[in-house]
Amino acid sequence: MMQSWPAHPERGQRQGDPGSCTAYPVSSFAGGFPERLPAFSVPATPPLAKPGAASDIGHAMASSSNFQSWLRPDQSGLYCEPGGFHIDPSRPVSRAVITHGHSDHARPGHDAILATADTLALMRLRLGAGCFGQGQALAYGETLRLGEVSLRLAPAGHILGSAQVVIDYRGQRAVISGDYKRRADPTCEAFEPVPCDLFVTEATFGLPVYRHEPDHGEVAKLLASLADFPGRTHQIGVYGLGKCQRLIALLRQQGYDRPVYLHGALRSMSDYYAGRGIALGDMPAVADAPGKLAGEIVLSPPSALGDRWSRRFAEPLNGFASGWMRIRGRVRQRGVELPLIISDHADWPELIATIAETGAGEVWVTHGREDALVHELGKRSITARALRLVGREDDAE
Ligand SMILES: [Zn+2]
Ligand SMILES: [Zn+2]
Repeated sequence: MMQSWPAHPERGQRQGDPGSCTAYPVSSFAGGFPERLPAFSVPATPPLAKPGAASDIGHAMASSSNFQSWLRPDQSGLYCEPGGFHIDPSRPVSRAVITHGHSDHARPGHDAILATADTLALMRLRLGAGCFGQGQALAYGETLRLGEVSLRLAPAGHILGSAQVVIDYRGQRAVISGDYKRRADPTCEAFEPVPCDLFVTEATFGLPVYRHEPDHGEVAKLLASLADFPGRTHQIGVYGLGKCQRLIALLRQQGYDRPVYLHGALRSMSDYYAGRGIALGDMPAVADAPGKLAGEIVLSPPSALGDRWSRRFAEPLNGFASGWMRIRGRVRQRGVELPLIISDHADWPELIATIAETGAGEVWVTHGREDALVHELGKRSITARALRLVGREDDAE
């Protein structure tokens, strides 16, 4: 039980994607797993489940919580032994299931990767050709049997392609959420709550003080500022994968139809989203723009705020779209005039509500503010444990 995924590499991959890593012939990978049937509708759960145990409706609590016998953190991250794979490992491994394309989850150098087609494509865009050996795409809802477990991916609502990993093993079900949010996001599929026995959650905003404002109000702040300061370029710092495209989509939803100018570093991801049919409208390059862009919106990486690059603009007004803009110290530290609290992570009430919704009797917390969440869950008679996985960042949000 080792080697690679079943031999269906690159299914769902669009032709002509840049930076494709498809050079590995399938035959170079020794088998060891039953292949999926072409229909991908293999009901893997029934043969694995004990009679009367796991099902999506009225999911029964596992009687004993010995999840560590089959899912546990090791030096590379979370490892599923009967399936023979890691989830979002922090160092190169032979087989990795990747929840989404952000750098603290999707690292280069794995021999074989299983993820959604969008995550595979976004990894190639970010990390380049050769960033992993073999890639296999799995669509949301398709079930795959891997070793002794069955696995499927469910939408996480975090960024395009983001997924929760649902693993069934001997009547127990674990769901590894990756990063997730519950707010509506026009750029990705909505989070799907999956009933389970063990829920492995992030806790980026795992303190009761973290309550994100409604997104439309934050976007309205930006539009009001444009009206108030028509002579100033509104330069908004955004992270390049997810936040950038979501902010543009939210602006479009509120009727903003002017061009949104992009720093070159935001180009490839934004074009990928647009190519996937997400309506982002006109996104010209700053480099091609005439004049000083007074009264226009320019999106850039946060590092370009107040940088030499900004000197070309008319009295630049610095904004920053991030869940961390809730924290005054971070606003001051970054010299931000227009903080926009737009987060791609669940806030505290959403973390608590999501955990309750899964019905999980046990919760492991991967990264973020673990202690407060573990304490809160204890009060609710949920067995909770901080995993303290290394290599996760809560900053890039
Ligand atoms: Zn993320
Ligand atoms: Zn993360």
